[in-house]
Amino acid sequence: MAAPQIAIDVDPDTGVWRTDGLEMLYMPRHFFLNLLAEVEGAQGRDDFARRLYDSGHRSAYQWCAHQAGVTGLAGLAVFRHYLARLSQRGWGRFDGAGIDATGGEVRVRQSCFVLGAEGGPPGRRCHLFAGWFPGALQWVADAEDRAVRYSGREVACAAEGHDACRFRIAAA
Ligand SMILES: [Zn+2]
Repeated sequence: MAAPQIAIDVDPDTGVWRTDGLEMLYMPRHFFLNLLAEVEGAQGRDDFARRLYDSGHRSAYQWCAHQAGVTGLAGLAVFRHYLARLSQRGWGRFDGAGIDATGGEVRVRQSCFVLGAEGGPPGRRCHLFAGWFPGALQWVADAEDRAVRYSGREVACAAEGHDACRFRIAAA
């Protein structure tokens, strides 16, 4: 085992955890997956996936805006920093080498949703990630005053037997 590669600051007065000045929560994977499964079951997969997409898009955008201010990074370096941090926080191993301003592909190995779904029904498991990459790229484009809109979707999932999950990000 290796130690985490991110710094965690614990406020001695409140007990609140922070990394890079952002409040964080640390929780068992099964807790989070159970929560998602419960809401998805009540709401239906399609509607829930749309809401996850929108909230994930918004959160990725906010994260990039915050991190750009903290780190001084700009442009696609912020996007790459985002993928690096996600990888360091245990969501999976994210590879965005195929991404530029026109979009492209993000590959995810060891997705927490695939690892946590072992023995479950077949099918794509990682719809929570779908809005994250277009949201982060949208922040980059807006910061550079580029009039473009990104969208993203998972086109292959390791839960279906592929070697990695693949997300296609398109610009329009
Ligand atoms: Zn997947």
